[in-house]
Amino acid sequence: MHQNKAAEGIQALQYFGEFGGVNPSISDSSTYTFLSAKTMFDTFEGNTEGCYLYSRHSSPSNLYLGEALAALEGTESANVFASGMGAISAVLMQLCNAGDHIISSRTIYGGTYAFMKNFLKNYNIHTSFVDITKVENVAAQITENTKCIYCEAVSNPLLEVADIQALSRLAKKHGIPLVVDNTFSPLSISAAKLGADIVIHSLTKFINGTSDTVAGAVCASTDFCLALKDVNDGAGMLFGSTLDSLRAASILKNMRTLHIRIKKHSENTLYLATQFEKDGLKVVYPGLTSHPSHHIFQKQMDTNYGFGGLMTLDVGSLKKANSLMELMQKKRLGYLAVSLGFYKTLFSAPGSSTSSEIPEVEQREMGLTDGLIRFSIGLDHDIHQTYLSMRQCMEQLGILREVGVPA
Ligand SMILES: *Cc1c(COP(=O)(O)O)cnc(C)c1O
Repeated sequence: MHQNKAAEGIQALQYFGEFGGVNPSISDSSTYTFLSAKTMFDTFEGNTEGCYLYSRHSSPSNLYLGEALAALEGTESANVFASGMGAISAVLMQLCNAGDHIISSRTIYGGTYAFMKNFLKNYNIHTSFVDITKVENVAAQITENTKCIYCEAVSNPLLEVADIQALSRLAKKHGIPLVVDNTFSPLSISAAKLGADIVIHSLTKFINGTSDTVAGAVCASTDFCLALKDVNDGAGMLFGSTLDSLRAASILKNMRTLHIRIKKHSENTLYLATQFEKDGLKVVYPGLTSHPSHHIFQKQMDTNYGFGGLMTLDVGSLKKANSLMELMQKKRLGYLAVSLGFYKTLFSAPGSSTSSEIPEVEQREMGLTDGLIRFSIGLDHDIHQTYLSMRQCMEQLGILREVGVPA
């Protein structure tokens, strides 16, 4: 158990706006003037502190947000991107050249899986997908060409939990970086403090929390962050998935309430998962002692923030899953939508949506069943009432009766 002090770290950062505003001014420029031509040359070479050249490289608003994210994860530095995939693709292309090899968890975000399996393959970069909870299997796949171990702290959509300390020891032994996507568990798990070398976030989810924008981040050493921005060979700089300053400013403001939101998401999800498990439903939530990696999450977590806002429920078939989601939406219990980390509950069937990039055979192998619904539980004020209403939907569709619960 860890007390990460991440929220305190973020709160300690203070920037004032141009006129003494309590929020930093938004940099509303793509390019910046120089008083002397010599300074422009030095800035281009990347060796003039505090000077800006062009906003694809850096802008004040993006640097403020980057500093807050570095404080969140406890890393030296952080770069922001126009999306989580922008961050993930830049990191992997920065770490790997043709002929290199990646070891990745097999249960990861569908887009990341497709990028590794279909896209990187065309550049002769191959990925071995493994069960990340079995560290000895990861070790067995390492070759001299392996350039990183990649996983999600809590995996999408199956909520497997990576033992970051054990994976980090393995990675260090082989002199390769451990890359952890921490999108599902900000504040609850501080991946870098547990030994991850590079921590990635899709800011689109909990960190922004208002489902109004797409953005991403890479939290890492200053050396790696600068390498990503290098004008000559930095994947971040050259792929150009730059976050807009206006959006960076709005994400930074939303981050101010992250610690309160995560507590509430976790509290509500634990309540529902506990009740549904008692009802005999097939619930997966890392906060339940029945979860196979419950103790690993517990060992890694900051107890102030709980086990996160995601849970899954297997209702037996895609048809039932679809009926239940439609009914819950009609009853205003949430939205039938992908994504996560919103104030309102979001639910989707990952097998036919966010994980549809993963072939059906492989979905079955990893335990991703047809009837699986992924819930991102919202900030509901009265979660007991939500539970009763969800239960009523299940009763109406005969889902509870089938698992032997008296109606
Ligand atoms: C959504 C998500 C991504 C991709 O992020 P975008 O902001 O949509 O590009 C990556 N990893 C995880 C775990 C996600 O949930």
